[in-house]
Amino acid sequence: MKYNSTKGRDGGYSASQVMIKGIADDGGLFVPESIPALTAEERAKLPHMSYQEAANCVLSKYLTDFTPMEIAECVDAAYSESAFDGGIAPVVSLKNGVQVLELWHGPTSAFKDMALQLMPHLLVTSLRKQGVTDTAVILVATSGDTGKAALAGFQDVPGVRVAVFYPEEGVSAVQKRQMTTQKGGNVAVAGIRGNFDDAQTAVKQIFADTEFASKLREKDLFLTSANSINWGRLVPQVVYYVYTCAQLQRRGVLKADETIDVCVPTGNFGNILAAYYAKQMGAPIGRLVCASNCNNVLTDFIETGTYNRNRAFSKTISPSMDILISSNLERLLYTLSGEDGAQIAAYMQQLAETGQYAVSAEIKTQLDALFTAGFCDDKATLQEIGHVWREQHYLLDPHTAVASAVLRQYQAASGRSAPALLVATANPYKFAADVMCALSDASAVTGLEAIAALQAATNLPLPAGLRDLAALPILHRDVIDPKDGEAWLLQKLQ
Ligand SMILES: *Cc1c(COP(=O)(O)O)cnc(C)c1O
Repeated sequence: MKYNSTKGRDGGYSASQVMIKGIADDGGLFVPESIPALTAEERAKLPHMSYQEAANCVLSKYLTDFTPMEIAECVDAAYSESAFDGGIAPVVSLKNGVQVLELWHGPTSAFKDMALQLMPHLLVTSLRKQGVTDTAVILVATSGDTGKAALAGFQDVPGVRVAVFYPEEGVSAVQKRQMTTQKGGNVAVAGIRGNFDDAQTAVKQIFADTEFASKLREKDLFLTSANSINWGRLVPQVVYYVYTCAQLQRRGVLKADETIDVCVPTGNFGNILAAYYAKQMGAPIGRLVCASNCNNVLTDFIETGTYNRNRAFSKTISPSMDILISSNLERLLYTLSGEDGAQIAAYMQQLAETGQYAVSAEIKTQLDALFTAGFCDDKATLQEIGHVWREQHYLLDPHTAVASAVLRQYQAASGRSAPALLVATANPYKFAADVMCALSDASAVTGLEAIAALQAATNLPLPAGLRDLAALPILHRDVIDPKDGEAWLLQKLQ
């Protein structure tokens, strides 16, 4: 299996090469030359496989230059019972028939762990296979969840350093404390004065500075990223959709000839794209329901075929979905265009220059056949959390609540009663203050105190990683101006 660029002017790389390169030389994203299919024999065996076995099966189709042994070692190191408290990707059945896929049982309580527990091992194996001896410096700008998941995933991984910039004014109290208490001899964390855009701009400038890159090279270091445009972040996500469908078949929730609609709270379009890949591989997935918050660029795009980012940016209570440019959409459009790199390059250029583009009628027809989209504002999100708690005694975090509300809209509008999978992306304790507001109008608890208040109100188990957060020593106190990022990084890499 070779990998090509969505912009069509770079390609022919192996999986281990694209894992190291991150982004193509023409500025496009790496995509497999074709989406591999599960064989009938594999589909028959999948319901009896463990998560690790399903991961080996799916990954072997994409990482064709890895040996089965190499894949199995990465998978075993990532998906251990000790790292995933309460199961790796358990499904909870609600009374109303909705199946909730809980992707937040990893060490940082957000679904980013599903990929970022595995990706470091894939990267280190790739470096070894390609004979790279320099140390990789993973530089991440985070709006909250990715930073902590990257720190936890790369902590003390040999041959890798990790540095995270988070916006001093832009993350929740829980997210901030998770990052500033991170242990590990190879990690560095800095608050950036400003918002997420300031942090991201600081990171982009560092990546674009060739002089800085040569300074690092003299120290046998090179920069790479861990964000969701990296193929190593995406491929682990295909696994849980294939695995979950097989588990639902085994349990009889899904009959042999039935498909399940999947509703995903969406930001950068990585998670829902993985569901699309799983469907194309042969997993029994029906419609892909794309749920957004008030930053509903994707809702409009899927409904009209025009992507238009020229609109106000809203800060919401589902911050990991506060995005106006969903990078991974480029990968979907590449496939739907019949792998027309020139077409995708033109769309992306229009997006950069005018903030919008409209896809061809052929692409729009395929979008209609695959996707439905919807959105919900903060008020409706809070109502959804309260409603589902009262009716089902199940607690949603704000991101999952957006998807739950959109799934309900979709089912009402379409009259579909087909089985539905609601993808849960964070543990509610991670956004305890807002979830408390949803449960009681009078709630005024903030910060870390909201965790204890939520526990008292619901009696739900608190994940290990969030339990002693207030008592852990703060190890990272640096707060810097965006322009000082390079100097800070050099000092940390001494
Ligand atoms: C990252 C994230 C999302 C969005 O996922 P994408 O793959 O970027 O679409 C949704 N919910 C939570 C809790 C997240 O951390």
